[in-house]
Amino acid sequence: MVGIGVLRRPARGCLRLLHRMAEPVPPADLEDPEWTPFLCNVCGMPNYAARRWLARESGHCMKCRCYSRLRSIVYALTAHFSTDEIILARMKPRKDVRGLGCSDGRYVRLLAEKFDYVNTFYDHKPQLDLCNVDWTRWTPDSFDFITCSDVLEHVEPPVERTFDNMRRLLKPGGVAILTVPTTLDPATHEHFHDLHDWRIKSEGKQRVVVNRRRDGTIERFDNLCFHGGEGMTLEFRLFSRKGLIDSIQNAGLRVATIHDRSVEVHAIALSPNNFVLVAQKPR
Ligand SMILES: [Zn+2]
Repeated sequence: MVGIGVLRRPARGCLRLLHRMAEPVPPADLEDPEWTPFLCNVCGMPNYAARRWLARESGHCMKCRCYSRLRSIVYALTAHFSTDEIILARMKPRKDVRGLGCSDGRYVRLLAEKFDYVNTFYDHKPQLDLCNVDWTRWTPDSFDFITCSDVLEHVEPPVERTFDNMRRLLKPGGVAILTVPTTLDPATHEHFHDLHDWRIKSEGKQRVVVNRRRDGTIERFDNLCFHGGEGMTLEFRLFSRKGLIDSIQNAGLRVATIHDRSVEVHAIALSPNNFVLVAQKPR
């Protein structure tokens, strides 16, 4: 078999071919310390990741394209709902478990195969605005889990409404499985405190937020942070670990689990300020 250890670059096409031809090379056979084998916990595909580049948004699976953060959400989910299998693709279906996704991606097909799961979107059907839930369409106490990955930093303030709505959507004992970019600061930093009548406006090459406060005062914010796109990917806040936990507890949820230690076998990079939080509604 070709020595994978001599590969200096990802060469994904070659690795894909090798995976089709033979079983994966055990870690002991890897000569190049830059590469580490891992098993994708979403689709079950053996992979290799570059150690020094493995971070929250990297380490893509060659088959399902899920990267570390997405694998971390699925890991927390299967760890909670499966008693004997951590790989989502191999898990026995749990159609008794009702799940709700908030703009999930890449793993949605498998989640729908394994659970009674529906993904939702902010701006198209099936539509769910976590700030203003349409309770004629959504039923309180109806979901066993909600997956919400890197969404909460983009919802309009006050973010407390969103946590309250999550608690209402969950069944007693149900869990919200959450990731957000976080710091270890003492509190969450809200970028815009008193948004009322606001819009994003272009000024030359930059975009600014112009807000008319309730008292009529006009204010302007520049140095905006957008995540991977335009418009509604504006970052409204930067959570801190403590601030997120406080928000969850203030909404009447409890912290069931925090996954904050890397899972090397699945190349899931986690740390004290890069974690998956499982918040549970009391029974
Ligand atoms: Zn995969």
